[in-house]
Amino acid sequence: MSDLARIAILLGLWVVFEETSNRIARLRIRLADYGHVDMTSVWTFAAALVLPPSLTVLLCAVVLGYAWLRHERDSGMRAYRQVFGAAVVIASCLSARLVLNLFPAGVSATDQAFWAVGAVVVAMLVYASVNFVVLFVAIYLAVRPVKLSALLENRQDVTLEFATLCLGGLTALALANQPLLSVLVVPPLFVLQRSVLTKQLEIAATTDSKTGLLNAATWQHMAQRELARARREHEAAALLIIDMDNFKLVNDTHGHMAGDSALRAVADCLVHELRQYDAIGRFGGEEFVAMLSGVDQLTAVGISERIRQQVQLLEVASPVEGQPALIGLSASIGISCYPEHGAELQDLLHAADSALYAAKRGGRNRVVVCAQSE
Ligand code: GH3
Ligand code: MG
Ligand code: MG
Repeated sequence: MSDLARIAILLGLWVVFEETSNRIARLRIRLADYGHVDMTSVWTFAAALVLPPSLTVLLCAVVLGYAWLRHERDSGMRAYRQVFGAAVVIASCLSARLVLNLFPAGVSATDQAFWAVGAVVVAMLVYASVNFVVLFVAIYLAVRPVKLSALLENRQDVTLEFATLCLGGLTALALANQPLLSVLVVPPLFVLQRSVLTKQLEIAATTDSKTGLLNAATWQHMAQRELARARREHEAAALLIIDMDNFKLVNDTHGHMAGDSALRAVADCLVHELRQYDAIGRFGGEEFVAMLSGVDQLTAVGISERIRQQVQLLEVASPVEGQPALIGLSASIGISCYPEHGAELQDLLHAADSALYAAKRGGRNRVVVCAQSE
């Protein structure tokens, strides 16, 4: 099969996929709060494996250029970033092509399928590594210091890119050996795109977009579950309501944007100070809630004191360049405990709220445990 026939098939499949999944792609871009992994590497990686470098670059330019033109309005991505992204993809493609030369038969499986699959796997590793290293260096230079783990944190993105490259590899194997089979790549690609959208919708429905914590409804659901477990296993549990002190004044002094950054910093502090399996939520406004399972009253006071002190130590970088960091934040914390202060979530919330009011009345920046028992 000629190179022109191969690029024609790849572009044909790409157009079919773009047209059938356009609505899903738009939704995914709108839901993503940062750059999202598109699925164009199916085509660019497949091209790198079966086309000469010049046609690979042409395909990359067409596919990535079109993706930008079509979704520019939704993603708000600047042109220079898109050009940089395309340059990285082309560098990855050409590097993958270079290592493919080490395999005399390339991805052709006529002699031995083992070598063809081996060639795809090695090329995939090179493609992904070049992509990752260049992006890491660019991000490091822009916003240093950046941790390696932070870039790999979004496991969903990493898995999606891996699955997309696998499908690109299969497309290349099909094109090199049984071109008609390459048509079969479109349905799984479509289902993959839809399943990622479902995950994004789930995250959007359960988390508070400003802080990344659970939203109020999801927190209530999780807290009910923890409480039911504590009841079943005769364990203790503690409920914390954390309310920022004089937050209106913080907004009035530093502006709402700085106030938002402060809320994010407090949320990060809670995540850092509490355990991974504690249900932490944003209840509304500048108020946070946490349900700590297996924690008795004395321990809950210790944890809350630690949180209170850490909030006081926060230095929140201003979102406005040149402005000083926001310091001097404080929070009041009300605590109620299961089973002493109630058996149901609503009772515990009510009890912790009373304790919080007592903390505010007592002068703020303090931890108070509910006074009444059941
Ligand atoms: P207190 O110590 O009694 O809790 O005083 P306070 O000012 O924190 O409490 P109040 O309930 O009077 O005001 C809450 C403030 O929190 C007012 C509101 O502007 C601010 N706030 C609520 N939600 C947000 C938000 O999402 N972002 C920002 N920046 N501010 C918020
Ligand atoms: Mg407040
Ligand atoms: Mg409040």
